[in-house]
Amino acid sequence: MTEPIVRYQNVHKSFGDVEVLKGIDLDISPSERIAIIGPSGSGKTTIIRMLMTLEEPTSGDIIVNGTNLWKMEKQGKLVQADEKHLRSVRGDIGMVFQHFNLFPHMTILENCMTAPIHVKGVEKAEAEQRSVEMLERVGLKDKMSNYPSQLSGGQKQRVAMARALVMKPKVMLFDEVTSALDPELVGEVLEVIRDIATNDDMAMVLVTHEMDFALDIADQVLFLDQGVIAERGSAQKVINESKNERLQEFLTRFR
Ligand code: ADP
Repeated sequence: MTEPIVRYQNVHKSFGDVEVLKGIDLDISPSERIAIIGPSGSGKTTIIRMLMTLEEPTSGDIIVNGTNLWKMEKQGKLVQADEKHLRSVRGDIGMVFQHFNLFPHMTILENCMTAPIHVKGVEKAEAEQRSVEMLERVGLKDKMSNYPSQLSGGQKQRVAMARALVMKPKVMLFDEVTSALDPELVGEVLEVIRDIATNDDMAMVLVTHEMDFALDIADQVLFLDQGVIAERGSAQKVINESKNERLQEFLTRFR
């Protein structure tokens, strides 16, 4: 058995008095593709935001590549991680957001170059070379001197993917990346994800409502419901064969 690249151990998360995640256990193997589905508000985004270190679990552990994300050892004791520790583990994780989150005042090329230079200490020339390569891969090399406002939603999302890929993450997170797009732009974005799934070997976690796409590329599908993983297994088993009534009801809304 290969060691998991990501391990959630009994992870709970509350916002105020509301417990949003109620004990998540999940192992993600290197190069595994996981789709998370479930009703709005069930905690899907919170699961991946914690991995990106954007939210802190209330209790439990998240371990990435053998390193505890939120805790670090100090004088033989596990204490709350400091910003330096978080930054170093975050370097292994890439995330693409629903609303792109590109830097509006930077060109497309600068958007891609900034994190490798400032987070990973990559030389400027190398960051530029990698960025151009990735923009070419997503079909947007000719737009690299443009600003985000000059691009369509689909193009912005493809830039966001190139920007994440430039960091060479071990895990890529996709948070409903097609939900904010006009329907005719969804296909071009799914094509890039499919290309990554086919040609790269990083682990991928997708929060998605695209059931056919999940069936197509996911090794494992999780159905999250009311803060617990209510069903898990192969995409075929969860999406096409599960008898879980709440899952059935959920699926009728998306198929
Ligand atoms: P999903 O992605 O499944 O729609 P989320 O993970 O976004 O669900 O949210 C789960 C629940 O947590 C929702 O009820 C949401 O309102 C709440 N929530 C998420 N983030 C915050 C926050 N920063 N502060 C307060 N409540 C939050």
